[in-house]
Amino acid sequence: TLEFKRGGPKQLPIASHFTDEKDFSIGKPRLVILGSGWGAVSLIKELEKDKYHVTVISPQNYFLFTPLLPSATVGTLEARSLLEPIRGIIKHICAHYLEARATDVCFDEKLVEVSTGPDGDSFYVPYDKLVIAVGSKSITHGIEGIEHCHFLKTINDARAIRKTIMDNIEKASLPTTSSEERKRLLSFVVCGGGPTGVEFAAELYDFLTEDVVKYQFPTVLRKEVQVSIIQGSDHILNTYDKKISDFAEKKFKRDNINVITNARVQKVKEDHIIYKKKNEDEERELKYGLCLWSTGIAMSSLTKKISEKLPEQKNMRALVTDNRLRLMGIPDSSVYAIGDCSTVKNPKLVENLMKFFTDADVDNSGALSYAEFQAMAKKISRKYPITADHLKKANILFATYDKNKSGTLELDELHAMLDDIDKRLTSLPATAQVAHQQGKYLAKKLNKLALERSTAIFPSSTDYSVDGAEKENPDMDDRLEPFNYAHLGSLAYIGNSAVADFGTGYTWTGGWSAVYLWRSIYFSEQVSLRTRVLLALDWTKGSIFGRDISK
Ligand code: FAD
Ligand code: MG
Ligand code: MG
Ligand code: MG
Ligand code: MG
Repeated sequence: TLEFKRGGPKQLPIASHFTDEKDFSIGKPRLVILGSGWGAVSLIKELEKDKYHVTVISPQNYFLFTPLLPSATVGTLEARSLLEPIRGIIKHICAHYLEARATDVCFDEKLVEVSTGPDGDSFYVPYDKLVIAVGSKSITHGIEGIEHCHFLKTINDARAIRKTIMDNIEKASLPTTSSEERKRLLSFVVCGGGPTGVEFAAELYDFLTEDVVKYQFPTVLRKEVQVSIIQGSDHILNTYDKKISDFAEKKFKRDNINVITNARVQKVKEDHIIYKKKNEDEERELKYGLCLWSTGIAMSSLTKKISEKLPEQKNMRALVTDNRLRLMGIPDSSVYAIGDCSTVKNPKLVENLMKFFTDADVDNSGALSYAEFQAMAKKISRKYPITADHLKKANILFATYDKNKSGTLELDELHAMLDDIDKRLTSLPATAQVAHQQGKYLAKKLNKLALERSTAIFPSSTDYSVDGAEKENPDMDDRLEPFNYAHLGSLAYIGNSAVADFGTGYTWTGGWSAVYLWRSIYFSEQVSLRTRVLLALDWTKGSIFGRDISK
């Protein structure tokens, strides 16, 4: 057996060497990646060989293609078709994989504490660079009885849902089941009208109407099946364009899907939920045979632990990074966070007001000419890409904020402008699209950093930190481009039709062609040929034979 030195705050073994004799990357900087989801895999795929000694740590030894997870709950797709073994994905960089969960990070000694399970071993994995990409968990709002609900986040969640659906339908078909109990078994309740809840409801509806009729089920089932969605605000898909949420609501109305808006769930009981409508005092009840909880995301336990450890981390929902995806509170750029577990801190432009103003006022006139302002706007958008859209129309901005019509921007006018822009900046959504782009960005950067480290020594650069204070930062990372998110549109499947929202007001809804678009987009985003073949087979099989209803 290998001998490990012990150390770190808990005097655990430090796994500084691995069991592979042919490990050529030994001696390279150690890059440790936590997670095997969208963020981590997008990073791994773009990393170049021999730049780092890479270790991937995740309790799931596969990548899960989450956008199609709702299809696995009713057997439109087989669960396995959505999984891609992580060991295949890491092959090209000869990385190590450890099936374990990171439980803590000691930033001072650069050690990740990992555990192989409740009764397993705990040890440390040392790093030079750490990437946290552990995703999120479902938010529960501390609702009483939440344990009676299903979630839809992991492949096992999808399997459990599929089993419950089939159990309920079979039980409802038994002659000994009372009609009241049958109605309850056939009542499917979705709490949360976001994309996951809506897609699940749509898949379920397709299944119940297309397949349950195909097989020999009692006809009464069809009449008694009820799918309900409970949504807190006044529309479902309310983060999408209005046209899309209208389209979805109309479609659901035609399909007799029961959409209950402006409603808050108070409690979940074993066989019914208790909810309240806005502006109503009395509580209402809804019986269910299956209840899916899908109202948003929260920090996982590791994320929470890290957040509590660093005084710079004050956000309650995610780890905060600067616009180069470096974890705030770690001064030496050794830790990055990407995907759902993280959020990029928006700059507060106003805090840099004086600096921006004096830098831009080249002729020291005490006011900015249009040319001076234009140059400033360009510089700020390059530094903080999230502001670029807001600074694009420099001529309009200039005219709007030159309140005294002096033809120049005075300090108070610039102040008002930056204040307004600050108010308009929103944070990035927790989507696969964001995680994917962040992973890719980080890979390119890590590739470059490895190259620069080996070829050149750079002088230290001067930079404003995200907080606005100017500081000397000798970090090479600062010389590279900040992260810039390009929104490619959102897509949701709502039952034999799909809706797309391409941002900037362009939306699109439709019938069969939309379904094909929906599928092909996910096809081309899909990771490997193997998975593509599996998906194609599932869809073909489904269209010929219907879904598989065996358990
Ligand atoms: P994940 O992909 O969740 O990966 C997290 C990884 O970390 C997992 O491998 C997990 O095993 C691992 N992990 C967890 N804890 C630890 C730990 N302590 N130590 C080590 N590893 C750990 N987004 C879209 O853009 N479009 C869609 O259509 C879409 N549909 C969705 C449908 C569903 C049903 C769901 C649940 C999500 C959907 N999303 C969609 C959102 C998208 O899946 C997430 O935004 C994305 O997965 C975030 O990537 P991530 O890498 O941050 O986290
Ligand atoms: Mg990940
Ligand atoms: Mg994020
Ligand atoms: Mg001037
Ligand atoms: Mg003026």
